[in-house]
Order: sequence, then C-alpha cells, then structure tokens
Amino acid sequence: MDYKKPIPVKTQDNKPYWDAADDHEMMVQRCDECDQYAHPPGPSCAKCGGTNLSWQNLGSDIKGTVYTYIISYRPFLPGFQDDLPLIIAQVEIEEIPDVKILANVLDCEPEKVEIGMPVRMVWQDINDERALPQWKPIAN
Ligand SMILES: [Zn+2]
Repeated sequence: MDYKKPIPVKTQDNKPYWDAADDHEMMVQRCDECDQYAHPPGPSCAKCGGTNLSWQNLGSDIKGTVYTYIISYRPFLPGFQDDLPLIIAQVEIEEIPDVKILANVLDCEPEKVEIGMPVRMVWQDINDERALPQWKPIAN
C-alpha cells in the first residue's frame, strides 16, 4: 500500500496506545496514584507527578462528542491533497470526558460538523501493520 501521510511514531510512552490502535482498540493511560487519565500518554502523571501508570483497554466501541475542530482547506503535508477540506477534531470520550482524542472526522460535510456532535471511533488500516483512529459521525 502506498501511504504518503506521516505515520505516528511509537515511543516508549505511547506504544501501548498505538499497538491497541493497530488492533482496532483504544487504550488509555491512567495514574495509579490519583486515578487521573492521561492523554497523550507520558512518562509521569501531569496532575500529581506520579510515575505508577497503567493502561486501561476501552475496547472497540468508542463514542464521543466533538469538543472543538478546525477545517483544513490546504494540504500542509504531502498526502493530504485529496482529502480536502479535512475536518480535524478534538473529541471528548463519552466514558472519560477527561480524555480528548485528536483525529480527522471522516464522511462528514464540513458544514455539518459542530461542537457537541456525536461521533464514533473507526480505525483506518494504512498499511499491513498500522491503523489510525479516526472519527465518523453517528447518524441521528
Ligand atoms: Zn496522578
């Protein structure tokens, strides 16, 4: 497959998140000391500084609402020229409003996107190994 967009790099901190995405699941990091969820994942808790962090698997049925968004009309990176206009949204996860996931909203007219719009996570297989979380509107 000929994928021209940048592929997120797995690091020591975020590897469980991206590994889960490759399996079409969502994992989220949580502090064992203060129970704060952390996204994007890091080496320590942003709230209490604790380093005892664990991962919680939220599975494949992830819903949320658009918290904020932008619409891109210009390809700032190669590979995006055929996707324009592209909706890029930060979405609040239904089960854990503390966690917001930034991704594209697919299959949505730019004039239809709005704050509070319900969306569902889908995973786009970009090559044999990797998949990226994206959002799609929940038809209502
Ligand atoms: Zn903490």
